[in-house]
Amino acid sequence: MPLSPEQTAEIEELRSTPQPTLRATVPGMEAHLYKAHDVLDHGFVRVIDYMGDDAAICQAARVSYGKGTKSVQNDTGLIRYLMRHWHSTPFEMCEIKLHVKLPVFVARQWIRHRTANVNEYSARYSILDREFYIPAPEHINAQSTVNNQGRGGLLEGEEAARVLEYLKADSTRAYDHYEEMISQDGQDGLARELARMNLPANIYTQWYWKVDLHNLFHFLRLRADAHAQYEIRVYAEEICKIVADWVPAAYGAFEDYRLGGANLSATAIDCIRRIVKGEVVTQETSGMSKGEWREFEGVIG
Ligand SMILES: Cc1cc2nc3c(=O)[nH]c(=O)nc-3n(C[C@H](O)[C@H](O)[C@H](O)COP(=O)(O)OP(=O)(O)OC[C@H]3O[C@@H](n4cnc5c(N)ncnc54)[C@H](O)[C@@H]3O)c2cc1C
Repeated sequence: MPLSPEQTAEIEELRSTPQPTLRATVPGMEAHLYKAHDVLDHGFVRVIDYMGDDAAICQAARVSYGKGTKSVQNDTGLIRYLMRHWHSTPFEMCEIKLHVKLPVFVARQWIRHRTANVNEYSARYSILDREFYIPAPEHINAQSTVNNQGRGGLLEGEEAARVLEYLKADSTRAYDHYEEMISQDGQDGLARELARMNLPANIYTQWYWKVDLHNLFHFLRLRADAHAQYEIRVYAEEICKIVADWVPAAYGAFEDYRLGGANLSATAIDCIRRIVKGEVVTQETSGMSKGEWREFEGVIG
């Protein structure tokens, strides 16, 4: 269950008691506030709070000469300029606080992004729920044969069924033992902080995650990328939709320059110039390694 009945009641109460404010608000973001967006089989992402908007980015960028927002067109142009030239601090003026429920193995990748503030559910203090990520059959893949850090084609037939069965049975068995060990029914009961070591990495955890927009974009560029692991990418993609509603101009620039853009080496740019002049450039004459050339071909199509 993505949300507990208590959490659902809390959201309904929060959404039914709006408060007037003089702060900048964004209608698209107000619509997201507190609501949970389902991700994977038991996970979610929801916005708890946010600060700033596209205008706040421009206001910060223009502070040096004391002029605030001019027009939407100017703001969009300025934001695109800032993004293009890596003038990043104005984006740090916007902040977002998310409540995320995610499998522990996804949390391990996520927590590597050190530039956020995190507060996680305590499995020393509380008892974890019996909720495990079990991939849908269309996400049970074989090891990739070309990329050690990725997955290949779908597992099928008896092998796929057996894998799913192991994942479900092992999770259930580990949780049964966890429950049995912490039980104080007729025994002392093992401390929760010790019993949790028996739980598998597909169990769900939860945290509050607060980050500024510049560092959020960095996270999204890495984790919404097609090469990111599917299970973290779906969270990043959900956050992308939220950010698009929050700061449409900044998200548009990010989508154009970072998500859809590419970094090219001096050698790659030289190859493009040679190709434009009509030269037939091959990997052997490019000055690039086979791997670089493959990626370069991916960029120029
Ligand atoms: C496809 C992929 C594969 C990966 N594979 C592995 C792997 O095999 N093993 C592994 O361990 N990790 C792996 N990672 C994690 C990766 O190395 C980074 O730790 C992670 O992406 C977070 O990036 P970051 O440090 O830039 O982000 P953040 O921690 O958010 O930092 C943002 C930026 O702040 C600066 N910064 C933050 N803290 C410091 C600091 N202490 N010192 C200097 N500068 C700092 C850096 O400029 C950094 O880029 C992988 C990531 C991806 C996307």
